[in-house]
Amino acid sequence: MITNNDQDVSTVYWSLGQDDNWNVPVDLIKELEDWEALQAADMEEILTYSEFDAYQDFTDETAIYPPEKGLEYTALGLASEAGEFAGKVKKAIRDKTYDTEAMIAELGDVLWYVARAAAELDVHLSDVAKDNVEKLKTRMERGKLKGSGDKR
Ligand SMILES: [Mg+2]
Repeated sequence: MITNNDQDVSTVYWSLGQDDNWNVPVDLIKELEDWEALQAADMEEILTYSEFDAYQDFTDETAIYPPEKGLEYTALGLASEAGEFAGKVKKAIRDKTYDTEAMIAELGDVLWYVARAAAELDVHLSDVAKDNVEKLKTRMERGKLKGSGDKR
């Protein structure tokens, strides 16, 4: 015996298709598929969310620069902070002092700008790390760790 619960999807479309909004069920199914895809993407992001990404999210709260110049600002800041780190190492040579804490603090500044630059490129910091690991692994496998050139 066939009951209403045994209707197949095409029957539902047909019976709902008797009114003017015959495409509503199709739209609803598309909406549901889109929602499911978003849920899957969110779940993937949650599963791959790392401390790198938590740190990058934190930097959102301390990012105070003109948003329309974010990439330029972070590129210049990154170069500047890398220079400050180099300056601490230079002073270690000159003064024969070795201020590890100051060097670490400058590396933190470098990290902040790396995280912000990645955010400006709309990429998770964890993905930057993963891509770098993959690049270095393939170079290692191909015996190309030494040498120069971005595409070796
Ligand atoms: Mg600094």
